[in-house]
Amino acid sequence: MKKEQKLDRRSFLKVGMQAGGGILALAAIPMSLVAQDAVAESDPLAQALGYKADASAVDTAKFPKRAGEAGAKQFCHNCALYSGDADSASGPCSIFQNKLVAGKGWCNAWVAKS
Ligand code: SF4
Repeated sequence: MKKEQKLDRRSFLKVGMQAGGGILALAAIPMSLVAQDAVAESDPLAQALGYKADASAVDTAKFPKRAGEAGAKQFCHNCALYSGDADSASGPCSIFQNKLVAGKGWCNAWVAKS
């Protein structure tokens, strides 16, 4: 009986170590290589920030920050919180963790790159 318990514990530890190794291996994969979904405009945070994948569709009456000549130049691809390539269709944004925003998108958290 005691021998069975040892084997069970050993098996349990072995499986646990294998699972832990798998999790560590997954954690080592850069996020840039993991497929990410695009932020949905229906996402509650996206709605609160007025995010639009097409910046020209932003309701400037509700979000006057993007109104006028200066506002019309604001896009995700030139936002300080965007970490994608300037000419890529989409990229990561530090506001929307693990999701991609459109390079030609915009939200009210836009910050000029310094
Ligand atoms: S914070 Fe910047 S990059 Fe992120 S969605 Fe808003 S405008 Fe786009």
